Amino acid sequence: MDFPIDTLKRPLKDLRISVIDQCNFRCPYCMPAEVFGNHYAFLKRDELLNFDEITRLTRIAADLGVHKIRLTGGEPLLRKDIDQLIKMLVAIPRIDDLALTTNGVLLPRFAERLKNAGMKRITVSLDALDNDCFQKMNGRNVQVAAVLKGIEAAAAAGLRIKINMVVQKGVNESEILPMSRFFKQNGHTLRFIEFMDVGNHNGWKMEQVFPSRRIVELIQSEFPLEPLNPNYPGEVARRYRYSGTEVEIGVIASVTQPFCANCMRSRLSADGKLYTCLFANEGWDLREVLRNGETDDDIRETLRAIWENRHDRYSELRTEILKKHLHPHKVEMSYIGG
Ligand code: SAM
Ligand code: SF4
Ligand code: SF4
Repeated sequence: MDFPIDTLKRPLKDLRISVIDQCNFRCPYCMPAEVFGNHYAFLKRDELLNFDEITRLTRIAADLGVHKIRLTGGEPLLRKDIDQLIKMLVAIPRIDDLALTTNGVLLPRFAERLKNAGMKRITVSLDALDNDCFQKMNGRNVQVAAVLKGIEAAAAAGLRIKINMVVQKGVNESEILPMSRFFKQNGHTLRFIEFMDVGNHNGWKMEQVFPSRRIVELIQSEFPLEPLNPNYPGEVARRYRYSGTEVEIGVIASVTQPFCANCMRSRLSADGKLYTCLFANEGWDLREVLRNGETDDDIRETLRAIWENRHDRYSELRTEILKKHLHPHKVEMSYIGG
């Protein structure tokens, strides 16, 4: 039976679910090849939450107010039968927004299946149009054309598409304008993400962050932009429209303008650990709770307690942490999916 949403004192609207920690890329800002090489201990199959477990947790989270789910990884299209999971998640009544973030190269094979399973929109990550630059950024010499083919396949299947571009000063800032021109032309929303100090291995330095404010100024030097109101309170991206068009861009200023005070997003790793912050040190083991025979009510109360007692605000504290030369251990991006 359906009952009213049991809202949390502090809202939790958005859950990112990593379905696999492995990836076919080795982007140095996320999974540097020297760390995530042949000997890296990825999760084994039986360690992953199965689809029934993911669906059950999602249903319980939806009872507490979550309405938006993003499947991620690692590379989510490497998870076997991902379309089966999508079918199960779209059937949950309170989930009104299901998305997936992918590096795009497997989309020619999967786009139709995603659409047929009930997925409406996806995000494809692409950091450059210049092949040399992109090959450096994906760590596996993958060609831009392979991702563009994926984007075309997704569009042909009728999926709405957003593009994510991580901007790293000195690496791909020269690609901001070419990317902007290209995606303005073909109408997909392009979102610029500041390079973040996620995980423990990407050698992040503040000097490598290209501030979102400058991205907007740069684009405005070529195309007039109009700021748009947020679609909903707490929206992470600041949105703009190219004047005279319906085409949008977004900037995610997670480093230079942190938004912890409005953070309504939690992350579930592929082995069922819940992280209340992208920069958390540890997660809460929900797989154990699920496999221990606890009832839905017990699990809902566990979730409530975790979320209502959190104090995360890493991005707001970053400058202080850096000043003190502290190096807190953080969860890896490829493990919780961004
Ligand atoms: N493999 C998929 C992909 O790349 O789209 C999904 C997982 S990936 C971890 C999710 C998003 O995180 C991608 O858009 C990626 O560019 C972004 N990302 C990874 N490392 C990052 C970093 N250090 N700073 C900012 N964004 C990052
Ligand atoms: Fe893989 Fe995505 Fe991380 Fe790149 S950003 S290494 S594609 S998980
Ligand atoms: Fe949320 Fe943590 Fe990011 Fe702040 S740093 S917005 S608390 S995920």
